[in-house]
This record gives sequence, C-alpha cells and structure tokens, in this order.
Amino acid sequence: MNEDCRDVLDRLEIYLDGETQMDLEAAIQHHLQDCPPCLDRAEFERELRALVAAKCRDCAPPGLLARVRIRLRAAG
Ligand SMILES: [Zn+2]
Repeated sequence: MNEDCRDVLDRLEIYLDGETQMDLEAAIQHHLQDCPPCLDRAEFERELRALVAAKCRDCAPPGLLARVRIRLRAAG
C-alpha cells in the first residue's frame, strides 16, 4: 500500500459522510478510479454503512464500524 492509498483510506470515513472538502473529494474520487483495491474498500464501507443503517438504525453498538474497520485494516 502506498502513501496515497493510506491517505485515501484515512479519509474514507469523512468522504463517505460527505464531509470532505470539494477538492479533496475530487482527489479521492480520482484515486478510486485508478486504484481498484481502494475502490473495493470504499464500496465495502459504503455497503456496510447502508446495511447498519437499514438493519439497526437505533441499536448499532457504538464503535462497531470503527472495530470492523480496524479489523479490515489489520487483515489488509
Ligand atoms: Zn489506493
């Protein structure tokens, strides 16, 4: 994993929350187009969020996403 990937994955959470600056968002989108591993991770995160939001809007334990993310990062 190179430094660009690390930066993108570090910002993936705010990117998916739509809280990134416009130029940063464009930079992340550009990176994802050129980097299938990061795109896979981004799409997995997006689906995970949708799943948690749909199934368990009020009962998701705090930190669940963070724990899953740490596990993924350790595996990847
Ligand atoms: Zn990448």
